[in-house]
Amino acid sequence: MNTQDYIALEEKYGAHNYHPLDVVITRGEGVWVYDVDGKKYLDCLSAYSALNQGHVHPQILNALLEQAKKITLTSRAFRNDQLPLLYKELSEMTGYDMSLPMNSGAEAVETAVKLVRKWAYRVKGVPRHQAEIITAAGNFHGRTTTIVSFSTEPSYRDDFGPFTPGFITVPYGDASAIEKAITKNTAAVLLEPIQGEGGVIIPPAGYLKKVAEICRKNNVLFAADEIQTGLGRTGKLFACEYEGVRPDIVIVGKALAGGFYPVSAILADKSILGLFTPGEHGSTFGGNPLAAAVARAALAVIRDEKLAERAEKMGTYFMEQLAEIPSPHVKEVRGKGLLIGVELKPSAGGARRFCEAMQKKGILAKETHENVIRFAPPLIIEKDTIDWALPSVREVLNMK
Ligand SMILES: *Cc1c(COP(=O)(O)O)cnc(C)c1O
Repeated sequence: MNTQDYIALEEKYGAHNYHPLDVVITRGEGVWVYDVDGKKYLDCLSAYSALNQGHVHPQILNALLEQAKKITLTSRAFRNDQLPLLYKELSEMTGYDMSLPMNSGAEAVETAVKLVRKWAYRVKGVPRHQAEIITAAGNFHGRTTTIVSFSTEPSYRDDFGPFTPGFITVPYGDASAIEKAITKNTAAVLLEPIQGEGGVIIPPAGYLKKVAEICRKNNVLFAADEIQTGLGRTGKLFACEYEGVRPDIVIVGKALAGGFYPVSAILADKSILGLFTPGEHGSTFGGNPLAAAVARAALAVIRDEKLAERAEKMGTYFMEQLAEIPSPHVKEVRGKGLLIGVELKPSAGGARRFCEAMQKKGILAKETHENVIRFAPPLIIEKDTIDWALPSVREVLNMK
């Protein structure tokens, strides 16, 4: 079977809820992936930052294989000998008292929504079922019906109502808009420190700090969705650290399992996360021993290979080099660490054709929001590899 055969099968038998580049990947190693024709590509998407550690990291692979031979699933009806160690290591690494594991990022966001509502009723004293959560325009928090209820992206939500009430939308990057939106029923503010899917949107300096202060002053929880920005991607363990902000709740996913397995979690202190009691929340697969073993290895790699520091160093270099490329199409290059967006002018004709042109040159990147090309390679990328990619990027950014 060749590339076209696989694509034909996928188009015929699969739902068309994605518009992938026409590359059929069969193997990956580090920052590289290989298609079914044997062609090699630099992965500049990292599965939306789920592959911070690179493809098939040997240490995580080993943890997966060893654990898979022993026990993979117990359900939380019984305890297992991996989850407690994941809890402890997550707490030691992040400084939060506790965590609650789920599988997909969307489930972790749902978990945070439930938790802040419970906190509002049991601690803050909001009348039952009146809690409000403030969210930002342009957000991406996942695809469940509750989460798309507070999306502002028409394609994410238009045909999927009726929607879950209790969410207020304010413009992203405007702290005073949050202050004005707070009522006596506000449970939490839920934000991404950088809007990744929204087009690598970086809020004005001081925004997160101000939001955290406003939340504290008004007895409102601050929940940060660091599913894409967290675990080293932006050059710190969490992007909120750039402003010295410690959110009440941090949501992680994606790189938490280095691409081997869906593992997500929320992190918080005991005064908040301690509110859940048996029966109120759960997941058959959440916290299973295979997931926990994989996540433990994925976290060890982030720590031992100093991936946040690498992201800071390599990201600064990559972004400087991208910004120096003369191009009639580029409006702005922005980012933090190795989460970089190249925004094209409206006259460029959309980012998709540039991604297709880079694919031909052996670089896989994906457009986000029509006009932005996102560059987010695995954090293990070397300077030589960036230097290898730059001439091709330069050529593509100068095509007609
Ligand atoms: C990817 C992502 C999610 C959703 O994660 P899934 O695992 O796809 O459910 C939520 N929030 C942010 C910021 C993300 O980037």
